[in-house]
Amino acid sequence: MDSPNPRFHVVFIPLMAQGHMIPMFDMARDFAQRGAISTLYTTPLNAARFRASVHQSRLLGLPIELVEVEFPCEEVGLPAGCENLDLLPSPDLLRRFYDGIARLERPIERRIRGHEVPPSCIVSDKFIFWSSEIARRLGVPRFVFHGMSCFSLLSAHNISKFGAHRSVSSDWEPFEVPAMPRRFNITRAQLPGSLVPRPGFDEYRRKIQASEVAAHGVVVNSFDALEHGCVEAYAKALGKPVLCVGPVSLCNKNEADRFGRGNRSSAEAEACLEWLNKKSPRSVIYACLGSLCRLLPSQLMELGKGLAESNQSFIWVIKKNEDGQSAELERLLAEDNFEERVRGRGLVIRGWAPQVAILSHRAIAGFLTHCGWNSTIEGVSAGVPLITWPLFSEQFLNEAHAVDILEIGIRVGVKAPARWGEEETTGVMVKKDDVTRVVKALVSEDEEGKQRRERAAEVGRLARRAMEEGGSSYENVSKFFEFIQGHTLQLPHHPAMISSI
Ligand code: UDP
Repeated sequence: MDSPNPRFHVVFIPLMAQGHMIPMFDMARDFAQRGAISTLYTTPLNAARFRASVHQSRLLGLPIELVEVEFPCEEVGLPAGCENLDLLPSPDLLRRFYDGIARLERPIERRIRGHEVPPSCIVSDKFIFWSSEIARRLGVPRFVFHGMSCFSLLSAHNISKFGAHRSVSSDWEPFEVPAMPRRFNITRAQLPGSLVPRPGFDEYRRKIQASEVAAHGVVVNSFDALEHGCVEAYAKALGKPVLCVGPVSLCNKNEADRFGRGNRSSAEAEACLEWLNKKSPRSVIYACLGSLCRLLPSQLMELGKGLAESNQSFIWVIKKNEDGQSAELERLLAEDNFEERVRGRGLVIRGWAPQVAILSHRAIAGFLTHCGWNSTIEGVSAGVPLITWPLFSEQFLNEAHAVDILEIGIRVGVKAPARWGEEETTGVMVKKDDVTRVVKALVSEDEEGKQRRERAAEVGRLARRAMEEGGSSYENVSKFFEFIQGHTLQLPHHPAMISSI
């Protein structure tokens, strides 16, 4: 299919967290580039982060629109402006944040009903469970977006289905994830939070699961070749279509789009591409632990010192928070005279980095990542090998995917998650020498290092190919348009089969 009919309109409702909003925004853009009308719903603070990109897209003639709905911070007892997970001051407020999101159902439905071109379909985050009711009332299909790979979705599904995590006697004993196309192990301590009971969230999880059962299909930011048979297996388990339409970040074709993605970059970031231009090809390690990292300052210092002692050039991104942790990290950096010591060789970016623009620079030799799925697939797309430092959620599964299945990564050696609010208990798990060792291994000229780099470059080529005309993800977008337009709404439903996440 070249392009859908001119009134083909996809409404996107992302969860307000960078790792969920950014890929959905990219997807909306990609669909608009393919001829769909794309409308994204979010709250004012989040809209402000994306406004410049949307404006840019509209100047290029893309039919993409951002609709704002007020977030009821006061009503649910959140401080003003807490409209994104990365702005929540404490995990104790999570429940209120989700309550606030649930209150968006009516205002969003009202706005959707007011569109001049009625929606053909809703694509919404799994956390926006109530959108399946909106879709039902409007008589349009809903596709779910999890922000994860099929590999991790299927892993979690199978662990839960076969109770594999209950077969071991301790949290630290590795067990094999059952019924996967390729064998790999994990420990109970490393499982996604969704497989761990969480008081106060049971009803919420039940609603998410019910909305997944009701959905017509799933869209995934991945591509078929990366998933080693997991797409088909997961689709079979759910009894509904699962379409990989990524890597969606590749829809940002020019430097300005890659640079402006997700938020306004910080001052140091503005200069970082100039800085990279002066470096030799494949000589710089890029280290960034995502948008939600709250590791202890002492742990982050070990990371920084490990990079410094590797003698490799590096960019290190550190987050800026108002909770005192940033101030403590600054104190430690000053005490160590860190930036003076690494001047010319190491660049510290405080705040938001233009990650995709950095990763696609020819000077990048490797990516030290927390294995959030977006970062993982962005590293994959750039064709660079990874150093894996998972933090929480399904990130240990993504680590296994990169290291054991794709063989493009090296583990830094994290054994257990650093869950939000529990960082003090976890303490310092990775020492600077661990970091130095893996950086050296990553850039090593030995056979293992070379082969890892070749595999990473190859998988990067496959990623780009998937998004080109005739590639698997390109074709899956066409199939998605066809599903919706052909009103193939009598898609098979198997209510017994639900994702465990
Ligand atoms: N990101 C970025 N600059 C930063 C931090 C993050 O552009 O300084 C982007 C990154 O490219 C990715 C997203 O934010 O698209 C983070 O998503 P991911 O799933 O990797 O991790 P999360 O932040 O959800 O833990």
